[in-house]
Amino acid sequence: MSKNYCSFCGRPESSVEMLISGLEGYICSDCARQAYEITRAEFQNNHGDDFIADLDELKKPKDIFNYLNQYVIGQDEAKKTLAVAVYNHYKRLLQQDTGDDVEIEKSNVIMIGETGTGKTLMARTIAKMLDVPFAIVDATVLTQAGYVGEDVETILTRLLQAADYDVAKAERGIVFIDEIDKIARKGDNPSITRDVSGEGVQQALLKLLEGTTVNVPPQGGRKHPNQEFIKVNTQNILFIAGGAFAGIDKIISKRINMKPLGYQAQKQEQIDEDNILRYAIPTDLRKYGLIPEIIGRLPVLTYLNSLDKDTLKRILTEPKNALIKQYKKLFEMDGIQLIVKDEALDYIVDKAIEYKLGARGLRSLVEATLKDDMFALPGTKRKKLVVDKKYVEQKLSKTLLDKIRKAS
Ligand code: ADP
Repeated sequence: MSKNYCSFCGRPESSVEMLISGLEGYICSDCARQAYEITRAEFQNNHGDDFIADLDELKKPKDIFNYLNQYVIGQDEAKKTLAVAVYNHYKRLLQQDTGDDVEIEKSNVIMIGETGTGKTLMARTIAKMLDVPFAIVDATVLTQAGYVGEDVETILTRLLQAADYDVAKAERGIVFIDEIDKIARKGDNPSITRDVSGEGVQQALLKLLEGTTVNVPPQGGRKHPNQEFIKVNTQNILFIAGGAFAGIDKIISKRINMKPLGYQAQKQEQIDEDNILRYAIPTDLRKYGLIPEIIGRLPVLTYLNSLDKDTLKRILTEPKNALIKQYKKLFEMDGIQLIVKDEALDYIVDKAIEYKLGARGLRSLVEATLKDDMFALPGTKRKKLVVDKKYVEQKLSKTLLDKIRKAS
């Protein structure tokens, strides 16, 4: 039997993972992979700068909004604000190349809204649309240098990792800083003693948000004198911060109600008490404990509404990758048509609200509902599964719901 060799590295079939045959030769999987990397790098060198070549190519705010609509239900105000901020951000990058002396400032964003209302989803979706590296960091793990925890530079380590260590790519990525409210200074008065968990971290974050060159430890963790650093410039990185800011509604209400009497009487009826966050202004964040400099570096402020029954129901079925669509697909792959009746959706959503599970809990509820039949039906002759209210009622026992609540 004649032996086949890779025409590129010369190794025989026996010592490679896989050998692919061509018209007149072979290529092994290692060489194929290497060839792919070379062509990809070459392509990026030639086309990388085209990323934002001109204004016409930039996605317009309406395009960004429409794209978000495919994945995020409701939250129109936040979508609009974010769409404009992102558009301006990339316009700013374009303008930098023109040498114009009007300097457009960064449009970093801060989103306030209860947990599970779509803040991360929105930031992630935008990064996906733009095809830029995206990193999520939890502000609660950050500490000021010298304390136990993670230095703020590790935020950029994550971004570098998401960019496969391509620094140029990372430098125009998006970072989502979650739970920014948790590093608020406790109390309104600046404390004289050092506030490790709060103000120190905010100070450290400032530099990053402002735009500076940072020495980033490639593997994260503590800075180590002997470690090689990668220099990353944060000037063109878009930072989106999010937080629940529990209790900020009281600060906002108090401020609104402190308006001069005549004004108050006039405006009172129009105040939407259910969505008090929509009235948030930077001063409220300051009262909450963010330092003015941080607020200044997050100039675009927007809010997310809490999810009502109708929105939760739409989340189950409408997004491009909605849960129900996913489960339908899974059943369909076994030749089974899954039909979920409207009354069943209502029941699931009611339970999500009753047990305070939010949008995040919907997956557990649907999973728990369908688990038995996902186990039993494949391989049988069943062609259809109809899920109605009774069906869900049977599956979601109180014990199970309690269990889901505990786990969430
Ligand atoms: P947050 O960052 O506000 O805490 P997430 O964006 O992580 O919340 O939301 C958690 C999950 O809930 C998302 O992955 C998504 O499945 C679902 N979800 C929340 N809000 C929405 C929404 N407005 N539209 C669609 N899905 C949502």
